[in-house]
Amino acid sequence: MSKIWLNGEFVESEDAQVSVFDHGLLYGDGCFEGIRVYNNRIFKLRSHLKRMFESAQAIRLQPGCSIDELEEIVRETVRVNNQSDGYIRLVFTRGKGTLGLNPFLCPTATVFVIVESIKLYPDEMYEDGMSIIVAERPRVPAHCLDPKVKSLNYLNNILAKIEAVDAGVLEALMLNCEGEVSECTGDNIFIIKDNTISTPPISAGILHGITRKFVIEKVAPELGYTIEERTIQLSEVLSADEVFLTGTAAEVIGVSHIGDDVVGSGKVGTITHQLEAEFRRRVRENAPED
Ligand code: PMP
Repeated sequence: MSKIWLNGEFVESEDAQVSVFDHGLLYGDGCFEGIRVYNNRIFKLRSHLKRMFESAQAIRLQPGCSIDELEEIVRETVRVNNQSDGYIRLVFTRGKGTLGLNPFLCPTATVFVIVESIKLYPDEMYEDGMSIIVAERPRVPAHCLDPKVKSLNYLNNILAKIEAVDAGVLEALMLNCEGEVSECTGDNIFIIKDNTISTPPISAGILHGITRKFVIEKVAPELGYTIEERTIQLSEVLSADEVFLTGTAAEVIGVSHIGDDVVGSGKVGTITHQLEAEFRRRVRENAPED
């Protein structure tokens, strides 16, 4: 059992409840963040809080607290749960309202913070690589619901995830409506060809992954690599030497198979292993909280 911070107070997880009239539940109207705690340090906490407030602003949701207040709430929730290594889920919903869509009839946002232990992909998957598929369903276009908004409306991703689960794998690569590579249901994607690392640009319609940014700006340069952000076609992914995914839960994980296609040698490549090891070293030794 854990303690949940819910609308201003700590409650036991089994007592943490929101109304059936909450628009987060009725309409997926809200936003969220998933954040890691490594060795009592909250990885990229400020970046996650900033993205959370940007998501809230994009949907015109006012959480009723400042970014600094929320930072203290998150830190306090980690402290009271004694969770030196774990996963934080931060959620704003539009709050309780009527059965109509109008978000402005919900006077007060619901805010909660959950801190739990983290469920990771199995170790073998980091050694041997992960199998994924290419989802038939495209990523929702940015002019409809911009994927950079980490909203509670994840059905586009969930339906692609169902395609993955039906195919017996855990992740699905999603293309955008132009047929270009965008991202996976809960991870960003990178490819390596002839020692050059590339990843789709923000304009491909993706979440601005915080792990993605850390890998581009810190992890890869430390190892002497620069990463290109450019439009990527599916054929390039299928003919890449290495493919890897990044995400808060996944960290850096190599991909060995995409549908019926084998990636490179069918094993996790050398550069992916280097990036994965360097990422782990940095977050476990002294995770930056900026
Ligand atoms: N894309 C999507 C759709 C996601 O939900 C996530 C987060 N799980 C990511 C990418 C990875 O982002 P981050 O590195 O910030 O966790």
